[in-house]
Amino acid sequence: MELHSKLPDTGTTIFTVMSALATELKAINLGQGFPDYPMSEELISLVDSSMKEGFNQYVPMQGYFPLREAISKKIDSLYHADINPDSQITITPGGTYAIYTALTAVLEPNDEVIIFEPAYDSYIPNVIINKAKPVLIPLSFPDYKIDWDLVRRNISERTRMIMLNSPHNPTGTVLDEADIDQLRQIVRGTRILILSDEVYEHLVFDGKPHLSMLRYPDLFARSFVCFSFGKTYHCTGWKLGYCISHPTLMSEFRKVHQFNCFSCHSPSQVALSRFLRNEQAYLSLGKFMQEKRDYFQELMSSTPFVPLKSQGSYFQVYRYDKISSEPDTEFVMRLTREYGVAAIPLSVFYKSGTDNKVIRFCFAKKKETLEKAAERLSRMSRKEAR
Ligand code: PMP
Ligand code: GLN
Repeated sequence: MELHSKLPDTGTTIFTVMSALATELKAINLGQGFPDYPMSEELISLVDSSMKEGFNQYVPMQGYFPLREAISKKIDSLYHADINPDSQITITPGGTYAIYTALTAVLEPNDEVIIFEPAYDSYIPNVIINKAKPVLIPLSFPDYKIDWDLVRRNISERTRMIMLNSPHNPTGTVLDEADIDQLRQIVRGTRILILSDEVYEHLVFDGKPHLSMLRYPDLFARSFVCFSFGKTYHCTGWKLGYCISHPTLMSEFRKVHQFNCFSCHSPSQVALSRFLRNEQAYLSLGKFMQEKRDYFQELMSSTPFVPLKSQGSYFQVYRYDKISSEPDTEFVMRLTREYGVAAIPLSVFYKSGTDNKVIRFCFAKKKETLEKAAERLSRMSRKEAR
């Protein structure tokens, strides 16, 4: 059958490729980002009781109202934003879906969308499938910051959106107030929208605040802000998240959402509406994950890998140029095959394949997993000739 691909340059996502290889080779999987420790027993029991109470049919397409109410309260206490749960919040099957839906709701052919690279791998295909044009701007290396002058030079009358992700996947950097000031200056008086991917909102380290777009009324008015329960409650397989925006944007968002997913898994939404009352469960996350980052970094000091700074998320990127000059895609394959540890090469997050000899490890793992992985990696020697 003749078929014209709408995404001719898109292959299988690296997360699936590396996880399949890790499973096949029984390697330790520090590649795809997911925890290997159990989620909250209490939250599991709440799903169980919700099902037994009979919450097993469709909820409204916007999501279970008490969950939206609980989110609105949380947003008020964390970011001091007054969000109407009726018109400004929609529950989605994950953050990735929320991002796709937002883009699909507003992008028109030939609109330009600014994307910073390295970029989470769904962004570019999400733009292209909507016949819009990704405008790719590299983050600086090795500190992975936004060069705002470069952004200014790339703005045109076609610029429709800027995609932001803080804490950032894959690099672990976070936006600071200086970034927010620059962003404000750039978008003021324009029709530029913002897609703010904040799925790692609670995973910010070293006492830094999470600068959500929800904190800034002028920026929020033009933003879709996307979140993921999978990241917050250690249940990535639940695929539940939500999007928050101005009612005008949300109304368009829902036009797409209602004929795609319609509504998400009901008992989990009921359970989450109850579990959200426990503020400690999310407020303690940053410290919990920071300890994992620090522990992994300490373990990794016995290896020839050189860490770059991780300020948030559950990732840290490491340079391997002292070990090998192989392309990063080949290096991670060999790491998995010969040393039994899977990681993610950063070049796949650049359209042009920029290879700075950097790979990403996920440290959202049990202590034993991190110890075993570091022990295997410490067998790598500095000057392996290849
Ligand atoms: N954005 C980024 C940057 C992510 O790392 C993830 C995690 N997969 C998501 C969005 C979406 O998460 P999910 O769809 O699993 O809720
Ligand atoms: N966000 C996860 C990561 O970066 C993976 C999500 C996915 O597999 N789509 O590893």
